[in-house]
Amino acid sequence: MTGVYEASMSRAERALLNADKDGGAAARRILAAIDAALFEALRRAESAADGSAAASRRAEIKKLAFYRRRLLGRLIKSGVRPTGDHLRALFSGSGSDRLILLVTHACQLRCAYCRVRKYGATMTADVAEAGVRWLMSSLRRDVELQFFGGEPLLALPVVRRAVALAETSARNAGKTVRFLLTTNGLALDAEAVSFLKAHRFHVEVSCDGTMSAQDAQRPTARGTSSWPQLRSGVERLRRAGVPYQVIAVVLPEDASRAHERVAALAAMGHRRIQINYALGRHWTDAQAGALRESMDRAAVSARRLGVELVNLTVKRREPVVLNSELTVDCDGTVYRETGVCLEEDFQEMKKRFRVADVRNAGLFETYGATPFDNFAILASAYGRGGMRRTLLSNLELGRSFAEAR
Ligand code: SF4
Repeated sequence: MTGVYEASMSRAERALLNADKDGGAAARRILAAIDAALFEALRRAESAADGSAAASRRAEIKKLAFYRRRLLGRLIKSGVRPTGDHLRALFSGSGSDRLILLVTHACQLRCAYCRVRKYGATMTADVAEAGVRWLMSSLRRDVELQFFGGEPLLALPVVRRAVALAETSARNAGKTVRFLLTTNGLALDAEAVSFLKAHRFHVEVSCDGTMSAQDAQRPTARGTSSWPQLRSGVERLRRAGVPYQVIAVVLPEDASRAHERVAALAAMGHRRIQINYALGRHWTDAQAGALRESMDRAAVSARRLGVELVNLTVKRREPVVLNSELTVDCDGTVYRETGVCLEEDFQEMKKRFRVADVRNAGLFETYGATPFDNFAILASAYGRGGMRRTLLSNLELGRSFAEAR
């Protein structure tokens, strides 16, 4: 390990040994400080102009990714049999209490900014149930199960099976499980909405704000408008009282118009609104500045209108490009989220984001990843070309959003 971090890691190791006495508080503090220092060191190295010193510094820092697992190995080697307290102290600051099931790659839309590959794969109920069992084996008491795609409502029978098992398992294990589903809104028919309501889902509906933006950015696979179907689907959701938020994606060329999207969505009666900047697209400094300015205006009008702008809350994790959620793909392979949400860009390198097979993955917690870990993988995957420039711009935009909160 790099010498400069070795002393901190030894301190973390000593603190971990006492995790049963202080609930792991000291270890968590030290680990958080190491994460922050490593992240900043890698960010500086990645932003540096090319040069052999910078390159060797980058390589050295990247080697420290997933150091928490190495610390676990050191504890075991020194004769410790790790208890739940040790593991919680070591891993609770990394990863997420959420598992995402990508239940289908099929979708009725062809959004201009979509980075998920479309093909005819749908998850089997057996794989979905393996995902549920894996999440339920977690040391965490409160967990979340999210359904994603493609369009997850095209695989509603699989979603039903997973939810039924998750509810029974949570009851038996004394856990709480919260369900989330991200949808394009087109398949929100009466059956789907009644299911979502009965199981207390929180729904994320993608809607780009105005009909013209939706038609330009989110046409159907046949090239027709998705607007009428979306409007009636969301209306059904609202009338049923299912909690939801709408998510609008803003492209770099529309950066200065984010507040208009928020105003249009608020005028349609939506009370929770999130703006996503397009990932996998390069944002110039001017476009990033215009977006921040437009979001400041959106924040003012959201307060005036009594609308929740989700971007201002900690629920929105930034930088998004370094999200740590684990995603189970249709075939049961578990990936770090970046590998799936930027799949179109990383087809060749998707395997770098591979974690395990959900059917024999071991303890959920040990796959946790910090923003530094994800940054290190991403930096190894994007090479030194245009993709690097794009993703660093996504990362810096996300950081500026986090700092502005
Ligand atoms: S609805 Fe989602 S999965 Fe479908 S094309 Fe649009 S962004 Fe991609």
